[in-house]
Amino acid sequence: MIKAIINANIYGSEFHNIVFDEKSIIYIGDDISKFQVDETIDACKMSVYPGFYDSHMHLLGFGFYLANLDLKDCKNFDDIKKILLTRVNDDKYPWIIARGFNEDKLEEKRIITKQELDEICDSKPICLTRCCGHIMVCNSKALQRSGMENDVEADGYVININSGIVKENAIEDVKMAWPLADVKTISEYILLACKKCNEYGITAVGSDDFISITSEYDEVLEAFEKLAFQQKLTVRVNEQAHFNTIEDFQRFLHDGYTYDVGNDYFRIGPLKLIMDGSLGARTAYLSKNYADAPNTNGFNCLSPKELEAYMTLAQYYNMPFAIHVIGDKALDMVLDTYDKIKIENNILPNGLVHVQITRKDQLKRIIDNKLHCYIQSIFIDYDGTILKERVGDLAKNSYAFKTLYENTNVSNGSDCPVEMPDVIKGIDKAVNRKDVNGNLVNEDEALSVKQAIDSFTINGYKISLEDGDKGKIAVGYKPDLVILDQDLENIPKDKIIDTKVIMTIFDGEVVYDRYQNK
Ligand SMILES: [Zn+2]
Repeated sequence: MIKAIINANIYGSEFHNIVFDEKSIIYIGDDISKFQVDETIDACKMSVYPGFYDSHMHLLGFGFYLANLDLKDCKNFDDIKKILLTRVNDDKYPWIIARGFNEDKLEEKRIITKQELDEICDSKPICLTRCCGHIMVCNSKALQRSGMENDVEADGYVININSGIVKENAIEDVKMAWPLADVKTISEYILLACKKCNEYGITAVGSDDFISITSEYDEVLEAFEKLAFQQKLTVRVNEQAHFNTIEDFQRFLHDGYTYDVGNDYFRIGPLKLIMDGSLGARTAYLSKNYADAPNTNGFNCLSPKELEAYMTLAQYYNMPFAIHVIGDKALDMVLDTYDKIKIENNILPNGLVHVQITRKDQLKRIIDNKLHCYIQSIFIDYDGTILKERVGDLAKNSYAFKTLYENTNVSNGSDCPVEMPDVIKGIDKAVNRKDVNGNLVNEDEALSVKQAIDSFTINGYKISLEDGDKGKIAVGYKPDLVILDQDLENIPKDKIIDTKVIMTIFDGEVVYDRYQNK
């Protein structure tokens, strides 16, 4: 089947028509009369871009989020209560699981307590995860079902029985008590998330899924492999392989999996590790105490020994790493360990995820080592409002996206479901550097519009050793495309945010049509 998009303003081309089949783009030019076109899409002078690539998110976690309760828009405890009550008497849900609250955005300016949750329901377990994913509040039943009876206050593992708050790795232990998801359910979640991603113009993701809702990776891997084989995925997935234990990682490698194993739909990506927490939860690991909580500087989630063991094993098996680092102290640990274990002339695209709080000396080390940076410009929206009060003068050289972009490889993303995978908002934040209150955040580090677009398209593919047939509108490239109602490079920068996704095409098929709601 031959299709054509006509009357288009094509990103990176002076021509106006694209002809493609399900495999690839076969022509870009102004005379399509030599093609027997079966289906024509009139772009009505709108702009066509390569399908967007969200280079770090959690597809399965997003699907789970979409299937569970969303507290993102709650303004106060009453709003939260109303949403939770919808599942109290519904037998389909033995646990009430919700996500997305942010106490800074609630009128009460604090986290709801265990006692308040018990009043809503004491017969069913309730778990609310903060928007960042690093803090959870449980009711009594949920603590009991998770076997949590005593306070624990260790680095990377916190349980407070009285408030019902659990943090970091303790959250994983609560999740283990959740009803098990089988391959069928996991597949449903994945497809739900794919569909939503298509609405944002996304056709590819770097996704961390193995232990997001399960404790072991086997079922998740099976679900993805089946969906890829059945050609049901509507985004290409580069799996950021994340494990609970180094033994699981060893088993994975011994089963023959490693970097770049897979196909055009599902492919194994880098080893994902988590070094610290989040800024919002004050669990990101800083080199000095938090300016607004002088008794803590956050903590590391992996010991130096564990980090070295994972990194050494990964490099030995030719698997690059992608390590979550938010605080500068966590980044120091990764850079120091990398210096110890790195193999000279290694071509593996090793990388860092988030790279938020950085010092000048660290930016140089990242660049010297050519580390790939998986940034989330969309974080500026909220983080900009707390940055200075949280980290004081460490804010100065942080979110250094332009410095990194111009000196090493940078790809963009949303860390969804931490944020929605809203690429247009991501481009707006990268270019305009304004937080939600309209205040500028280190505006010297703003990307150009083209840099921001490329960070969400072609640059994502640079971490893969694939053939180089994705991320660009060119003959021979995959027909993954998005039509937007505005030409991002030729509108005032403050209008970028108003841009709408009109149509998303994946593998030559329309997977989202704004006017048909397909
Ligand atoms: Zn993440």
